Amino acid sequence: MTFLQGIAASNGIAIAKAYKLVEPDLSFEKKTVENTEEEAGRFHAALEKSKDELSQIRDRAMVDLGADKAAIFEAHLLVLSDPELVTPIEDKIKSENVNAEHALKETADMFITMFEQMDNEYMKERAADIRDVTKRVLSHLLGVHIVNPSMIAEEVIIIAEDLTPSDTAQLNRNFVKGFTTDIGGRTSHSAIMARSMEIPAVVGTKTATEDIQNGDLVIVDGLKGEVHINPTPEAVEEYRRVNDQYEAQKAEWAKLVNEKTVSSDGHHVELAANIGTPKDLKGVVENGGEGVGLYRTEFLYMGRDQMPTEEEQFEAYKAVLEGMEGKPVVVRTLDIGGDKELPYLNLPKELNPFLGFRAIRLCLEEQSIFRTQLRALLRASIYGNLKIMFPMIATLDEFRAAKAILDEERTKLESEGQQVSEKIELGIMVEIPSTAVLADQFAKEVDFFSIGTNDLIQYTMAADRMNERVSYLYQPYSPSILRLVKMVIDAAHAEGKWAGMCGEMAGDETAIPLLLGLGLDEFSMSATSILKARSQISKLGKAQMEKLAKEVLNMRTTEEVINAVKKATQM
Ligand code: PEP
Ligand code: MG
Repeated sequence: MTFLQGIAASNGIAIAKAYKLVEPDLSFEKKTVENTEEEAGRFHAALEKSKDELSQIRDRAMVDLGADKAAIFEAHLLVLSDPELVTPIEDKIKSENVNAEHALKETADMFITMFEQMDNEYMKERAADIRDVTKRVLSHLLGVHIVNPSMIAEEVIIIAEDLTPSDTAQLNRNFVKGFTTDIGGRTSHSAIMARSMEIPAVVGTKTATEDIQNGDLVIVDGLKGEVHINPTPEAVEEYRRVNDQYEAQKAEWAKLVNEKTVSSDGHHVELAANIGTPKDLKGVVENGGEGVGLYRTEFLYMGRDQMPTEEEQFEAYKAVLEGMEGKPVVVRTLDIGGDKELPYLNLPKELNPFLGFRAIRLCLEEQSIFRTQLRALLRASIYGNLKIMFPMIATLDEFRAAKAILDEERTKLESEGQQVSEKIELGIMVEIPSTAVLADQFAKEVDFFSIGTNDLIQYTMAADRMNERVSYLYQPYSPSILRLVKMVIDAAHAEGKWAGMCGEMAGDETAIPLLLGLGLDEFSMSATSILKARSQISKLGKAQMEKLAKEVLNMRTTEEVINAVKKATQM
Protein backbone atom coordinates (compact mmCIF):
# COMPACT_ATOMS: atom_id res chain seq x y z
CA MET A 1 0.00 0.00 0.00
CA THR A 2 1.36 3.43 -0.90
CA PHE A 3 0.46 6.52 0.99
CA LEU A 4 0.42 10.19 -0.08
CA GLN A 5 0.04 13.20 2.20
CA GLY A 6 -1.79 16.16 0.73
CA ILE A 7 -4.01 18.98 1.93
CA ALA A 8 -7.48 18.09 3.24
CA ALA A 9 -9.75 20.02 0.89
CA SER A 10 -13.21 18.56 1.39
CA ASN A 11 -14.45 16.41 4.26
CA GLY A 12 -15.42 12.79 4.08
CA ILE A 13 -13.97 9.50 2.96
CA ALA A 14 -14.21 7.94 -0.48
CA ILE A 15 -13.11 4.49 -1.58
CA ALA A 16 -13.22 3.66 -5.30
CA LYS A 17 -11.19 2.90 -8.42
CA ALA A 18 -8.87 5.57 -9.82
CA TYR A 19 -9.81 7.42 -13.00
CA LYS A 20 -6.95 9.50 -14.32
CA LEU A 21 -7.87 12.76 -15.92
CA VAL A 22 -4.63 13.47 -17.74
CA GLU A 23 -3.90 14.78 -21.21
CA PRO A 24 -3.06 11.83 -23.53
CA ASP A 25 0.15 11.73 -25.57
CA LEU A 26 -0.91 12.68 -29.08
CA SER A 27 2.54 12.97 -30.63
CA PHE A 28 3.19 11.33 -34.04
CA GLU A 29 5.60 11.53 -36.97
CA LYS A 30 4.97 12.58 -40.53
CA LYS A 31 5.10 9.51 -42.81
CA THR A 32 4.87 8.83 -46.53
CA VAL A 33 2.09 6.44 -47.49
CA GLU A 34 1.77 4.41 -50.68
CA ASN A 35 -1.87 3.39 -50.45
CA THR A 36 -3.61 6.74 -50.05
CA GLU A 37 -7.10 5.21 -50.51
CA GLU A 38 -6.50 3.01 -47.49
CA GLU A 39 -5.11 5.99 -45.52
CA ALA A 40 -8.16 8.10 -46.36
CA GLY A 41 -10.28 5.16 -45.20
CA ARG A 42 -8.39 5.11 -41.90
CA PHE A 43 -9.11 8.83 -41.51
CA HIS A 44 -12.82 8.28 -42.16
CA ALA A 45 -13.00 5.44 -39.66
CA ALA A 46 -11.45 7.72 -37.00
CA LEU A 47 -13.90 10.45 -37.97
CA GLU A 48 -16.88 8.11 -37.55
CA LYS A 49 -15.66 6.86 -34.17
CA SER A 50 -15.25 10.46 -33.01
CA LYS A 51 -18.78 11.31 -34.15
CA ASP A 52 -20.24 8.30 -32.32
CA GLU A 53 -18.35 9.23 -29.20
CA LEU A 54 -19.42 12.87 -29.37
CA SER A 55 -23.08 11.93 -29.91
CA GLN A 56 -22.95 9.79 -26.77
CA ILE A 57 -21.25 12.55 -24.80
CA ARG A 58 -23.79 15.08 -26.03
CA ASP A 59 -26.72 12.85 -25.03
CA ARG A 60 -25.24 12.19 -21.60
CA ALA A 61 -24.47 15.90 -21.10
CA MET A 62 -28.05 16.74 -22.02
CA VAL A 63 -29.35 14.56 -19.21
CA ASP A 64 -26.72 15.25 -16.55
CA LEU A 65 -25.53 18.77 -17.24
CA GLY A 66 -28.23 20.56 -19.21
CA ALA A 67 -28.75 21.94 -22.70
CA ASP A 68 -26.07 24.65 -22.60
CA LYS A 69 -23.27 22.14 -21.87
CA ALA A 70 -24.68 19.71 -24.46
CA ALA A 71 -24.59 22.52 -27.07
CA ILE A 72 -20.78 22.56 -26.88
CA PHE A 73 -20.64 18.95 -28.09
CA GLU A 74 -23.27 19.60 -30.73
CA ALA A 75 -20.98 22.31 -32.11
CA HIS A 76 -18.12 19.81 -32.18
CA LEU A 77 -20.24 17.36 -34.14
CA LEU A 78 -21.00 20.05 -36.70
CA VAL A 79 -17.30 20.72 -37.19
CA LEU A 80 -16.66 17.03 -37.89
CA SER A 81 -19.37 16.97 -40.55
CA ASP A 82 -18.15 20.13 -42.28
CA PRO A 83 -16.81 19.34 -45.78
CA GLU A 84 -14.74 22.54 -45.66
CA LEU A 85 -12.57 20.85 -43.08
CA VAL A 86 -12.88 17.19 -44.08
CA THR A 87 -12.30 17.48 -47.84
CA PRO A 88 -8.96 19.35 -47.65
CA ILE A 89 -7.67 16.65 -45.29
CA GLU A 90 -8.56 13.88 -47.73
CA ASP A 91 -7.07 15.88 -50.60
CA LYS A 92 -3.85 16.35 -48.68
CA ILE A 93 -3.52 12.63 -47.94
CA LYS A 94 -4.02 11.83 -51.61
CA SER A 95 -2.02 14.61 -53.25
CA GLU A 96 0.94 14.63 -50.84
CA ASN A 97 1.05 10.90 -49.96
CA VAL A 98 1.14 11.72 -46.25
CA ASN A 99 -0.30 9.93 -43.25
CA ALA A 100 -3.75 10.93 -41.95
CA GLU A 101 -2.35 12.28 -38.66
CA HIS A 102 -0.15 14.76 -40.49
CA ALA A 103 -2.83 15.81 -42.98
CA LEU A 104 -5.33 16.34 -40.17
CA LYS A 105 -3.00 18.35 -37.96
CA GLU A 106 -1.66 20.57 -40.76
CA THR A 107 -5.13 21.34 -42.10
CA ALA A 108 -6.63 21.93 -38.66
CA ASP A 109 -3.75 24.20 -37.63
CA MET A 110 -4.22 26.25 -40.77
CA PHE A 111 -7.93 26.82 -39.93
CA ILE A 112 -7.17 27.49 -36.26
CA THR A 113 -4.63 30.19 -37.12
CA MET A 114 -6.99 31.73 -39.65
CA PHE A 115 -9.97 31.85 -37.24
CA GLU A 116 -7.94 33.08 -34.31
CA GLN A 117 -6.75 36.06 -36.32
CA MET A 118 -10.27 37.16 -37.20
CA ASP A 119 -11.75 40.08 -35.37
CA ASN A 120 -14.93 38.20 -34.66
CA GLU A 121 -15.80 36.48 -31.40
CA TYR A 122 -17.84 33.74 -33.07
CA MET A 123 -14.99 32.72 -35.38
CA LYS A 124 -12.50 32.75 -32.52
CA GLU A 125 -14.69 30.29 -30.66
CA ARG A 126 -14.73 28.04 -33.75
CA ALA A 127 -10.93 27.85 -33.51
CA ALA A 128 -11.31 26.36 -30.04
CA ASP A 129 -13.84 23.83 -31.36
CA ILE A 130 -11.50 22.74 -34.15
CA ARG A 131 -8.65 22.32 -31.68
CA ASP A 132 -10.84 20.11 -29.53
CA VAL A 133 -12.18 17.85 -32.27
CA THR A 134 -8.72 17.50 -33.82
CA LYS A 135 -7.51 15.99 -30.56
CA ARG A 136 -10.40 13.56 -30.55
CA VAL A 137 -9.85 12.36 -34.14
CA LEU A 138 -6.09 12.13 -33.55
CA SER A 139 -6.66 9.98 -30.49
CA HIS A 140 -8.63 7.51 -32.61
CA LEU A 141 -5.99 7.49 -35.34
CA LEU A 142 -3.30 6.81 -32.76
CA GLY A 143 -5.39 4.37 -30.76
CA VAL A 144 -4.91 6.26 -27.47
CA HIS A 145 -7.65 6.80 -24.97
CA ILE A 146 -8.94 10.33 -24.56
CA VAL A 147 -10.61 11.08 -21.26
CA ASN A 148 -14.24 12.18 -21.18
CA PRO A 149 -15.13 13.06 -17.60
CA SER A 150 -18.77 13.61 -18.51
CA MET A 151 -18.99 9.96 -19.72
CA ILE A 152 -17.97 8.40 -16.41
CA ALA A 153 -20.63 5.83 -15.60
CA GLU A 154 -19.18 3.96 -12.61
CA GLU A 155 -18.00 5.01 -9.18
CA VAL A 156 -14.52 6.51 -9.44
CA ILE A 157 -11.99 8.76 -7.78
CA ILE A 158 -10.62 11.35 -10.16
CA ILE A 159 -6.85 11.73 -10.22
CA ALA A 160 -5.61 14.91 -11.94
CA GLU A 161 -2.73 17.31 -11.92
CA ASP A 162 -5.23 20.08 -11.23
CA LEU A 163 -8.93 20.52 -11.90
CA THR A 164 -10.15 23.80 -13.27
CA PRO A 165 -13.41 25.05 -11.80
CA SER A 166 -15.15 24.20 -15.09
CA ASP A 167 -13.74 20.62 -15.05
CA THR A 168 -15.08 20.30 -11.53
CA ALA A 169 -18.48 21.63 -12.55
CA GLN A 170 -18.74 18.88 -15.20
CA LEU A 171 -18.18 16.02 -12.78
CA ASN A 172 -21.23 13.88 -12.19
CA ARG A 173 -21.81 13.72 -8.44
CA ASN A 174 -23.43 10.30 -8.72
CA PHE A 175 -20.27 8.63 -9.99
CA VAL A 176 -17.40 10.82 -8.87
CA LYS A 177 -16.90 9.79 -5.26
CA GLY A 178 -13.80 11.85 -4.59
CA PHE A 179 -10.80 13.49 -6.17
CA THR A 180 -7.18 14.10 -5.61
CA THR A 181 -4.79 16.47 -7.37
CA ASP A 182 -1.06 17.10 -7.59
CA ILE A 183 -1.36 20.85 -7.06
CA GLY A 184 -3.67 23.31 -5.30
CA GLY A 185 -4.43 24.40 -1.77
CA ARG A 186 -7.46 24.47 0.52
CA THR A 187 -8.70 27.69 -1.03
CA SER A 188 -8.06 26.83 -4.68
CA HIS A 189 -11.36 26.91 -6.51
CA SER A 190 -11.42 23.19 -7.24
CA ALA A 191 -11.27 22.59 -3.48
CA ILE A 192 -14.05 25.09 -2.88
CA MET A 193 -16.21 23.42 -5.54
CA ALA A 194 -15.53 19.99 -4.03
CA ARG A 195 -16.87 21.22 -0.70
CA SER A 196 -20.00 22.64 -2.27
CA MET A 197 -20.54 19.37 -4.17
CA GLU A 198 -19.87 17.39 -0.97
CA ILE A 199 -17.17 15.31 -2.68
CA PRO A 200 -14.26 14.28 -0.42
CA ALA A 201 -11.04 15.71 -1.83
CA VAL A 202 -7.32 15.87 -1.14
CA VAL A 203 -5.29 18.40 -3.10
CA GLY A 204 -1.60 19.26 -3.34
CA THR A 205 -0.31 15.66 -3.14
CA LYS A 206 2.44 16.65 -5.63
CA THR A 207 2.71 13.14 -7.18
CA ALA A 208 -0.76 11.54 -7.34
CA THR A 209 -0.77 11.41 -11.16
CA GLU A 210 2.64 9.68 -11.11
CA ASP A 211 1.95 7.25 -8.28
CA ILE A 212 -1.60 6.21 -9.14
CA GLN A 213 -2.56 4.13 -12.19
CA ASN A 214 -6.00 3.85 -13.78
CA GLY A 215 -8.02 1.21 -11.95
CA ASP A 216 -5.96 1.26 -8.72
CA LEU A 217 -8.11 1.09 -5.62
CA VAL A 218 -7.80 4.44 -3.83
CA ILE A 219 -8.94 5.78 -0.48
CA VAL A 220 -9.31 9.57 -0.28
CA ASP A 221 -9.36 10.71 3.32
CA GLY A 222 -10.63 14.28 3.05
CA LEU A 223 -10.64 14.60 6.85
CA LYS A 224 -6.88 14.16 7.24
CA GLY A 225 -5.65 14.94 3.75
CA GLU A 226 -4.38 11.43 3.08
CA VAL A 227 -4.54 9.24 -0.03
CA HIS A 228 -3.98 5.47 0.17
CA ILE A 229 -3.19 3.55 -2.99
CA ASN A 230 -4.14 -0.14 -3.25
CA PRO A 231 -4.86 -0.42 0.48
CA THR A 232 -4.98 -3.76 2.32
CA PRO A 233 -8.46 -5.19 3.01
CA GLU A 234 -7.88 -4.33 6.70
CA ALA A 235 -7.21 -0.69 5.85
CA VAL A 236 -10.39 -0.55 3.74
CA GLU A 237 -12.33 -2.02 6.67
CA GLU A 238 -10.82 0.53 9.06
CA TYR A 239 -11.73 3.40 6.73
CA ARG A 240 -15.28 2.16 6.42
CA ARG A 241 -15.47 2.34 10.21
CA VAL A 242 -14.07 5.90 10.26
CA ASN A 243 -16.59 6.86 7.61
CA ASP A 244 -19.45 5.37 9.66
CA GLN A 245 -18.34 7.42 12.66
CA TYR A 246 -18.21 10.55 10.52
CA GLU A 247 -21.72 9.84 9.20
CA ALA A 248 -22.99 9.34 12.78
CA GLN A 249 -21.45 12.66 13.78
CA LYS A 250 -23.16 14.33 10.83
CA ALA A 251 -26.50 12.87 11.91
CA GLU A 252 -25.97 14.46 15.35
CA TRP A 253 -25.24 17.88 13.79
CA ALA A 254 -28.27 17.51 11.52
CA LYS A 255 -30.53 17.95 14.55
CA LEU A 256 -29.58 21.64 14.51
CA VAL A 257 -30.89 22.24 11.01
CA ASN A 258 -33.81 24.44 12.04
CA GLU A 259 -32.08 26.13 14.96
CA LYS A 260 -30.66 29.63 15.16
CA THR A 261 -26.94 30.03 15.76
CA VAL A 262 -26.44 31.18 19.32
CA SER A 263 -23.40 31.08 21.62
CA SER A 264 -23.71 29.50 25.06
CA ASP A 265 -24.17 32.99 26.56
CA GLY A 266 -26.92 33.97 24.15
CA HIS A 267 -25.12 35.94 21.42
CA HIS A 268 -26.65 35.42 17.99
CA VAL A 269 -24.62 35.26 14.77
CA GLU A 270 -25.69 34.38 11.26
CA LEU A 271 -24.38 31.30 9.44
CA ALA A 272 -24.72 31.65 5.69
CA ALA A 273 -23.55 29.58 2.76
CA ASN A 274 -21.24 30.13 -0.18
CA ILE A 275 -22.72 28.95 -3.46
CA GLY A 276 -21.57 28.75 -7.07
CA THR A 277 -24.82 27.94 -8.88
CA PRO A 278 -28.56 27.85 -8.17
CA LYS A 279 -28.18 24.04 -7.95
CA ASP A 280 -26.24 24.50 -4.69
CA LEU A 281 -29.36 25.88 -2.98
CA LYS A 282 -30.55 22.40 -2.09
CA GLY A 283 -27.45 21.93 0.05
CA VAL A 284 -27.98 25.33 1.70
CA VAL A 285 -31.52 24.47 2.73
CA GLU A 286 -30.62 20.93 3.83
CA ASN A 287 -27.80 22.26 5.97
CA GLY A 288 -29.82 24.99 7.64
CA GLY A 289 -28.16 28.02 6.01
CA GLU A 290 -29.57 31.29 7.32
CA GLY A 291 -28.80 33.00 4.05
CA VAL A 292 -26.38 33.02 1.15
CA GLY A 293 -23.30 35.01 2.16
CA LEU A 294 -21.53 34.64 -1.17
CA TYR A 295 -22.94 33.72 -4.54
CA ARG A 296 -19.91 33.38 -6.83
CA THR A 297 -21.61 34.43 -10.06
CA GLU A 298 -18.55 33.76 -12.21
CA PHE A 299 -19.58 30.10 -12.52
CA LEU A 300 -22.49 31.28 -14.66
CA TYR A 301 -19.92 32.54 -17.15
CA MET A 302 -17.64 29.50 -17.08
CA GLY A 303 -17.71 26.10 -18.82
CA ARG A 304 -19.42 27.57 -21.90
CA ASP A 305 -18.27 29.42 -24.96
CA GLN A 306 -20.10 32.72 -24.77
CA MET A 307 -21.36 35.27 -22.23
CA PRO A 308 -24.61 34.47 -20.44
CA THR A 309 -27.35 36.83 -21.60
CA GLU A 310 -29.13 39.28 -19.29
CA GLU A 311 -32.16 36.99 -19.38
CA GLU A 312 -30.18 33.86 -18.41
CA GLN A 313 -28.61 35.74 -15.54
CA PHE A 314 -31.94 37.17 -14.43
CA GLU A 315 -33.39 33.65 -14.25
CA ALA A 316 -30.44 32.37 -12.19
CA TYR A 317 -30.54 35.27 -9.71
CA LYS A 318 -34.31 35.08 -9.42
CA ALA A 319 -34.11 31.32 -8.74
CA VAL A 320 -31.64 31.87 -5.91
CA LEU A 321 -33.59 34.76 -4.38
CA GLU A 322 -36.87 32.86 -4.54
CA GLY A 323 -35.23 29.67 -3.27
CA MET A 324 -34.00 31.49 -0.17
CA GLU A 325 -37.53 32.74 0.58
CA GLY A 326 -36.66 36.22 1.81
CA LYS A 327 -33.47 35.27 3.62
CA PRO A 328 -30.47 37.43 2.73
CA VAL A 329 -28.63 36.62 -0.50
CA VAL A 330 -25.30 38.34 -1.09
CA VAL A 331 -24.49 38.23 -4.78
CA ARG A 332 -20.95 39.03 -5.78
CA THR A 333 -20.52 40.61 -9.18
CA LEU A 334 -18.25 38.91 -11.71
CA ASP A 335 -14.87 37.93 -10.22
CA ILE A 336 -13.06 36.50 -13.20
CA GLY A 337 -9.27 36.17 -13.38
CA GLY A 338 -6.71 34.49 -11.17
CA ASP A 339 -7.44 30.77 -11.46
CA LYS A 340 -10.87 31.46 -12.98
CA GLU A 341 -10.38 31.94 -16.71
CA LEU A 342 -12.90 32.82 -19.39
CA PRO A 343 -11.31 31.63 -22.63
CA TYR A 344 -13.91 33.37 -24.80
CA LEU A 345 -12.87 36.79 -23.46
CA ASN A 346 -9.51 36.23 -25.16
CA LEU A 347 -7.60 38.23 -22.58
CA PRO A 348 -3.85 38.27 -23.01
CA LYS A 349 -1.91 35.91 -20.72
CA GLU A 350 -0.47 37.73 -17.73
CA LEU A 351 2.65 37.01 -15.71
CA ASN A 352 0.81 37.51 -12.42
CA PRO A 353 -2.87 36.78 -13.02
CA PHE A 354 -3.72 37.01 -9.31
CA LEU A 355 -2.36 40.56 -9.32
CA GLY A 356 -3.67 41.45 -12.71
CA PHE A 357 -6.65 42.53 -14.71
CA ARG A 358 -9.42 40.75 -12.84
CA ALA A 359 -12.74 41.11 -11.04
CA ILE A 360 -13.86 44.72 -10.54
CA ARG A 361 -10.86 45.98 -12.54
CA LEU A 362 -12.12 44.13 -15.60
CA CYS A 363 -15.75 45.10 -14.95
CA LEU A 364 -14.96 48.80 -14.76
CA GLU A 365 -13.11 48.56 -18.08
CA GLU A 366 -15.43 46.17 -19.95
CA GLN A 367 -18.54 47.98 -18.86
CA SER A 368 -21.02 46.25 -21.12
CA ILE A 369 -20.35 42.95 -19.34
CA PHE A 370 -20.78 44.65 -15.96
CA ARG A 371 -23.91 46.58 -16.91
CA THR A 372 -25.62 43.44 -18.24
CA GLN A 373 -24.99 41.70 -14.94
CA LEU A 374 -26.16 44.66 -12.86
CA ARG A 375 -29.36 44.99 -14.87
CA ALA A 376 -30.13 41.30 -14.39
CA LEU A 377 -29.50 41.68 -10.65
CA LEU A 378 -31.61 44.81 -10.29
CA ARG A 379 -34.50 43.21 -12.15
CA ALA A 380 -34.26 40.09 -9.96
CA SER A 381 -34.10 42.17 -6.76
CA ILE A 382 -37.87 42.18 -6.27
CA TYR A 383 -37.92 38.40 -5.76
CA GLY A 384 -36.14 38.33 -2.42
CA ASN A 385 -33.64 39.97 -0.09
CA LEU A 386 -30.79 40.91 -2.44
CA LYS A 387 -27.49 42.42 -1.37
CA ILE A 388 -24.87 43.19 -4.01
CA MET A 389 -21.14 43.12 -3.38
CA PHE A 390 -18.16 44.08 -5.49
CA PRO A 391 -15.05 41.87 -5.47
CA MET A 392 -11.38 42.89 -5.22
CA ILE A 393 -12.01 46.51 -4.29
CA ALA A 394 -8.65 48.19 -3.65
CA THR A 395 -9.61 51.87 -3.54
CA LEU A 396 -12.61 54.01 -2.70
CA ASP A 397 -12.54 55.33 -6.26
CA GLU A 398 -13.21 51.82 -7.57
CA PHE A 399 -16.14 51.42 -5.21
CA ARG A 400 -17.56 54.80 -6.17
CA ALA A 401 -17.18 54.10 -9.88
CA ALA A 402 -18.90 50.71 -9.57
CA LYS A 403 -21.70 52.22 -7.47
CA ALA A 404 -22.21 55.03 -10.01
CA ILE A 405 -22.69 52.44 -12.78
CA LEU A 406 -25.17 50.53 -10.62
CA ASP A 407 -27.10 53.76 -9.94
CA GLU A 408 -27.18 54.57 -13.66
CA GLU A 409 -28.57 51.15 -14.51
CA ARG A 410 -31.19 51.51 -11.77
CA THR A 411 -32.30 54.88 -13.16
CA LYS A 412 -32.47 53.46 -16.70
CA LEU A 413 -34.53 50.46 -15.62
CA GLU A 414 -36.90 52.60 -13.61
CA SER A 415 -37.42 54.96 -16.52
CA GLU A 416 -38.25 51.89 -18.65
CA GLY A 417 -40.96 51.07 -16.11
CA GLN A 418 -39.14 48.09 -14.58
CA GLN A 419 -39.60 47.45 -10.89
CA VAL A 420 -36.46 47.45 -8.75
CA SER A 421 -36.31 46.84 -5.00
CA GLU A 422 -35.78 49.97 -2.87
CA LYS A 423 -33.67 48.26 -0.26
CA ILE A 424 -30.65 46.62 -1.88
CA GLU A 425 -27.66 46.79 0.45
CA LEU A 426 -24.39 47.45 -1.33
CA GLY A 427 -21.14 46.11 0.08
CA ILE A 428 -17.62 45.14 -0.80
CA MET A 429 -15.33 42.20 -0.34
CA VAL A 430 -12.36 43.06 1.81
CA GLU A 431 -9.67 40.89 0.31
CA ILE A 432 -6.92 43.37 -0.46
CA PRO A 433 -4.85 44.65 2.48
CA SER A 434 -5.16 48.32 1.42
CA THR A 435 -8.93 48.07 1.87
CA ALA A 436 -8.64 46.39 5.27
CA VAL A 437 -6.28 49.13 6.43
CA LEU A 438 -8.64 51.84 5.17
CA ALA A 439 -11.80 50.08 6.37
CA ASP A 440 -12.80 53.01 8.62
CA GLN A 441 -13.12 55.22 5.54
CA PHE A 442 -14.88 52.59 3.43
CA ALA A 443 -17.34 51.97 6.27
CA LYS A 444 -18.74 55.48 5.82
CA GLU A 445 -19.81 54.65 2.24
CA VAL A 446 -20.65 50.94 2.06
CA ASP A 447 -23.54 49.09 3.72
CA PHE A 448 -21.48 46.06 4.71
CA PHE A 449 -18.16 44.28 4.45
CA SER A 450 -17.52 40.64 3.64
CA ILE A 451 -13.96 39.64 4.42
CA GLY A 452 -12.50 37.43 1.70
CA THR A 453 -9.73 35.75 3.60
CA ASN A 454 -8.80 33.38 0.77
CA ASP A 455 -7.33 36.33 -1.07
CA LEU A 456 -6.65 38.56 1.94
CA ILE A 457 -4.25 35.95 3.35
CA GLN A 458 -2.61 35.36 -0.03
CA TYR A 459 -2.02 39.08 -0.55
CA THR A 460 -0.97 39.83 3.04
CA MET A 461 1.50 36.95 3.22
CA ALA A 462 2.51 37.19 -0.48
CA ALA A 463 1.82 33.45 -0.78
CA ASP A 464 -0.03 32.11 -3.83
CA ARG A 465 -3.15 30.27 -2.62
CA MET A 466 -2.68 27.68 -5.40
CA ASN A 467 0.90 26.81 -4.64
CA GLU A 468 1.31 23.92 -2.21
CA ARG A 469 5.02 24.70 -1.79
CA VAL A 470 4.22 27.96 -0.01
CA SER A 471 1.15 26.64 1.77
CA TYR A 472 3.03 26.86 5.08
CA LEU A 473 2.69 30.64 4.75
CA TYR A 474 -1.01 30.42 4.32
CA GLN A 475 -1.76 31.22 7.96
CA PRO A 476 -5.30 32.29 8.83
CA TYR A 477 -4.47 32.41 12.53
CA SER A 478 -1.44 34.63 12.16
CA PRO A 479 -1.78 37.64 14.48
CA SER A 480 -1.20 39.80 11.37
CA ILE A 481 -4.33 38.44 9.69
CA LEU A 482 -6.35 38.56 12.90
CA ARG A 483 -5.44 42.23 13.40
CA LEU A 484 -6.64 43.05 9.88
CA VAL A 485 -9.88 41.17 10.52
CA LYS A 486 -10.38 43.09 13.75
CA MET A 487 -9.81 46.42 11.99
CA VAL A 488 -12.50 45.60 9.46
CA ILE A 489 -15.07 44.41 12.01
CA ASP A 490 -14.47 47.38 14.33
CA ALA A 491 -14.65 49.84 11.43
CA ALA A 492 -18.01 48.42 10.33
CA HIS A 493 -19.44 48.54 13.84
CA ALA A 494 -18.25 52.10 14.42
CA GLU A 495 -20.50 53.16 11.53
CA GLY A 496 -23.40 50.90 12.52
CA LYS A 497 -22.73 48.50 9.63
CA TRP A 498 -22.31 44.73 9.67
CA ALA A 499 -19.24 42.66 8.88
CA GLY A 500 -19.26 39.16 7.48
CA MET A 501 -16.61 36.79 6.25
CA CYS A 502 -16.94 34.59 3.18
CA GLY A 503 -13.40 33.25 2.91
CA GLU A 504 -12.85 29.65 3.93
CA MET A 505 -11.58 30.83 7.31
CA ALA A 506 -15.18 31.55 8.37
CA GLY A 507 -15.93 27.80 8.51
CA ASP A 508 -12.65 26.80 10.12
CA GLU A 509 -12.91 25.13 13.48
CA THR A 510 -9.87 26.89 14.97
CA ALA A 511 -10.81 30.29 13.58
CA ILE A 512 -14.46 30.26 14.65
CA PRO A 513 -13.82 30.90 18.39
CA LEU A 514 -11.58 33.84 17.46
CA LEU A 515 -14.03 35.32 14.96
CA LEU A 516 -16.84 35.05 17.48
CA GLY A 517 -14.63 36.88 19.98
CA LEU A 518 -13.72 39.56 17.44
CA GLY A 519 -17.42 40.28 16.90
CA LEU A 520 -17.99 38.94 13.39
CA ASP A 521 -21.71 39.21 12.54
CA GLU A 522 -22.05 36.81 9.64
CA PHE A 523 -20.03 33.65 8.86
CA SER A 524 -20.40 32.41 5.29
CA MET A 525 -18.99 29.00 4.46
CA SER A 526 -19.47 25.83 2.41
CA ALA A 527 -22.99 24.62 3.16
CA THR A 528 -21.56 21.35 4.44
CA SER A 529 -19.70 23.15 7.25
CA ILE A 530 -22.73 25.01 8.64
CA LEU A 531 -24.16 22.44 11.03
CA LYS A 532 -20.78 21.60 12.51
CA ALA A 533 -20.08 25.32 13.03
CA ARG A 534 -23.50 25.83 14.63
CA SER A 535 -22.84 23.01 17.04
CA GLN A 536 -19.41 24.42 17.88
CA ILE A 537 -20.69 27.98 18.48
CA SER A 538 -23.48 26.72 20.75
CA LYS A 539 -20.75 25.45 23.09
CA LEU A 540 -18.68 28.67 23.09
CA GLY A 541 -19.19 31.67 25.39
CA LYS A 542 -18.95 34.99 23.52
CA ALA A 543 -17.52 36.84 26.55
CA GLN A 544 -14.82 34.24 27.02
CA MET A 545 -13.96 34.31 23.31
CA GLU A 546 -13.66 38.11 23.44
CA LYS A 547 -11.02 37.68 26.13
CA LEU A 548 -9.25 35.04 24.06
CA ALA A 549 -9.31 37.24 20.95
CA LYS A 550 -7.82 40.13 22.87
CA GLU A 551 -4.96 37.94 24.09
CA VAL A 552 -4.08 36.40 20.75
CA LEU A 553 -3.89 39.78 19.00
CA ASN A 554 -0.77 40.41 21.05
CA MET A 555 0.82 37.06 20.34
CA ARG A 556 3.76 36.65 18.03
CA THR A 557 3.25 33.46 16.08
CA THR A 558 0.52 31.32 14.60
CA GLU A 559 1.53 28.41 16.79
CA GLU A 560 0.99 30.45 19.96
CA VAL A 561 -2.46 31.40 18.69
CA ILE A 562 -3.42 27.81 17.89
CA ASN A 563 -2.31 26.65 21.32
CA ALA A 564 -4.25 29.43 23.04
CA VAL A 565 -7.43 28.51 21.11
CA LYS A 566 -7.00 24.83 21.97
CA LYS A 567 -6.53 25.65 25.65
CA ALA A 568 -9.49 28.02 25.83
CA THR A 569 -11.88 25.72 24.00
CA GLN A 570 -10.56 22.30 25.06
CA MET A 571 -10.33 21.25 21.41
C1 PEP B 1 -11.97 35.16 -0.92
O1 PEP B 1 -11.06 35.64 -1.59
O2 PEP B 1 -11.88 34.92 0.31
C2 PEP B 1 -13.24 34.79 -1.56
C3 PEP B 1 -14.27 34.38 -0.85
O3 PEP B 1 -13.31 34.86 -2.91
P1 PEP B 1 -12.73 33.74 -3.90
O4 PEP B 1 -12.36 32.54 -3.08
O5 PEP B 1 -13.80 33.44 -4.88
O6 PEP B 1 -11.55 34.43 -4.48
MG1 MG C 1 -11.37 36.36 -3.59
